[in-house]
Order: sequence, then structure tokens, then C-alpha cells
Amino acid sequence: MPIQKNRYEMAKRIKDLPPYLFASIDRMKQEAIQKGVDIINLGVGDPDLPTPPAIVRRLQSAAGESKNHQYPSYEGLLKFRQAVARWYQRRFGVNLDPVSEVLTLIGSKEGIGHFPLAFLNPGDIALIPNPGYPVYHAGTLFAGGQSHFMPLLRENGFLPDLSRIPKGVLKKAKVLFLNYPNNPTSATADGSFFEQVVAFAKRNRLIVCHDAAYSEIFFDGHRPMSFLEVKGAKEIGIEFHSLSKTFNMTGWRIGFAVGNHKILGGLGKIKSNLDSGVFQAVQEAGIEAMESGDHLAEEIRKTYQERRDLMVSGLKRIGLEVEFPKATFYLWVAVPRGYHSAQFTALLLSKTGIVTTPGKGFGDSGEGYIRMALTVKRERLAEALRRMEQVL
Ligand code: PLP
Repeated sequence: MPIQKNRYEMAKRIKDLPPYLFASIDRMKQEAIQKGVDIINLGVGDPDLPTPPAIVRRLQSAAGESKNHQYPSYEGLLKFRQAVARWYQRRFGVNLDPVSEVLTLIGSKEGIGHFPLAFLNPGDIALIPNPGYPVYHAGTLFAGGQSHFMPLLRENGFLPDLSRIPKGVLKKAKVLFLNYPNNPTSATADGSFFEQVVAFAKRNRLIVCHDAAYSEIFFDGHRPMSFLEVKGAKEIGIEFHSLSKTFNMTGWRIGFAVGNHKILGGLGKIKSNLDSGVFQAVQEAGIEAMESGDHLAEEIRKTYQERRDLMVSGLKRIGLEVEFPKATFYLWVAVPRGYHSAQFTALLLSKTGIVTTPGKGFGDSGEGYIRMALTVKRERLAEALRRMEQVL
């Protein structure tokens, strides 16, 4: 009897994944490009601006040093972690021990994706915002965990209503993922919400993973706070940060997690077995960004704020429902009556060549919205508005 098995059958954890959010948009986009359409891509949150030259120069000089050519340590150079701790103190007034309370990541996606492997056993539950960044759910599935989705609704300011999570779910829940400033809704959270979260996590013995990847993309002086600023937060949680959006460094792959040393220790154990850290020359450039980059981040914010003002005013003029976000470079635009989010995205692409992301791609509770990323130049945003004005 030949052995009955399919060599190419993928593992259940992969088959269980929802379709990758951008795959179908990419397909539609490619088709439009082949037809010669002049595409305006507001679909992906990848900054169009270059990394500031001072950061690039630091990489260039560090890349020439042979000591940086060997394996880095998985937890990151101590001097990078010290730079992070100093930045944290300066920006949030929170003290961190660079040795035990800071962990360097190969981009925050890496840390978020690996995190559930450290703390979820099969059957354990992770509480996940919906709509939300897809990696919280993917990481949970890969660890054999289950996701319980918390709807982020407009009437609650796109904050989860923790009181609606069933008792039975809370019994099995171990991890609570949060993300403010939020992708995709661009909502922000304040201290009183975070205080509620700390009390809730203590009561229900949860680990809080707060994803603050957009903490430095804020407007009108509304500086988002760190979750760790709240009393007791460091006992129960960690916070993910990224240099990707703050300094236009998405391609460099550097971020960090900070907070409770036992929780970071678990993530560190996974990392020490799976990866070999961030190229040290990139960490040197990261030090440049953390130590001397405040004015660079300010310039970048200014650019997004101008784009936000142009685009939100224009969309309102056209009659679309959208708020001026306090943070992130996303607009969460309500879909006009009579459309689903995917239909409206398809309409915009076919009639105007504008690529957007359907809210439903971020989870069922994202239905009724599309997300626009302000990662193209002002002239192109103005052109997008012109085209929409003609069609809508
Ligand atoms: N968290 C959120 C909410 C994001 O939107 C992203 C990227 O789009 C990330 C984390 C990951 O960023 P990076 O891995 O570049 O640090």
C-alpha cells in the first residue's frame, strides 16, 4: 500500500488564515495598471517620503565597521536599548531599565507575530480588536490560540467595550491586544481608557499588549500617551513601538517592545530560538533616530498634517463622511449608502484609479468604511479629489 498523504498540503494553521488583506486589492491594482490606468495608491500604509539623510548617513558609516558584520544579539545592542529608554523618559516620562525592560525587534510586526507563541497554549484566547491590524489574529492562530474579536464601534469612539466580553471567554483569555493611535480607524485613547484597561487586566489576569506603532504620527499637538504612563500598567503589560512610520523606515526593519520584564522575557525566549536580531548598523542608525530625531519626526508630522487637512476638507466637500483624525496617516471614511466597503473600493478603483482598502478586510466590524492612507504627495491627493468629485 502506498503511503496516503499530500506532500503539498499546507498546515492547518496556514489554511485557517483569512485571505491576506491586500492580495485581492493588489490583483485589481495590477489589472488596472495593465490597462494603462494612472493609479493613485492610498491602499497601503507605507510612507512615500525617504528616510531622513542623517539616519541614512549613520547606517552608511556603521555598515563599514567589521564589528557590525557578525551576528547581532537577539535582544539588541545595549546602546540601542539605552537610547530607547532615554527617548521613553523624554517623550512619556516613563522610566525603563534598558537591560530587562527593552527588547529590540525586527520591526514591531515581528514582535507582535511572535508574541502569542510565548504565552498562548492551544485553546487559550487572545482578545483582538476588530477592525484591526491582521497580525494579532495570525500570530494567535499560529500559536494554536483562539481569537475573540472585540468590535470597535463609532459610538464608542472606536474603543472596545470591555464589559461586553463574555465571562466564559474571559476565563480562557490570556492576552489583550490594543492599538492606539489605531489602524485602521485612526482613533486615539486617553488615560481614563487605559486606566480601565489596567484594572480590567488585573481583575481577569490578562497580559496587555499595546501596539503604539503610530504614537509619533499625531496632529494639532495631540500627543498620544504611552499605555505605560498609567499606574500599574508595567505590572501587566508591554508596548510595541516602531521606527517604521515615525522616521519613514519601513524597509529597515527595526522596532522595539518595552514594559514588564517577565512578559518581555517570554518573547525574548521565542526570539532567541527563531531569529538573530537586527543588523547592528541598522541599530546604530536607530540610535541616531532616537537620540537626535525629534525635529525629523516633527517635519514628517507636518507633511501628514497638511495632507490630512487637504484630503479631509476635500472629502467632506464631496459629501463623504470622515473626521479629521488626531493621529495616524489613515482616514476612516464611511461608505455612502447602498454600498458595501468592497463594492465602494472596487468602484473607486474602476472609475477613478484610486486604490483604497475596504474596511471589511480588517474584520467584519470594519464593514461600512474604507481606509485611505495619506502616503502620497499633496498633488496626487488633489488629483484624487478631482477624480472623485467627477464620479461621486
Ligand atoms: N502595528 C500596526 C498597527 C501597523 O499598522 C503596522 C504596520 O503597518 C505595524 C504594527 C508593523 O510595523 P513595523 O513592523 O514596520 O514596525
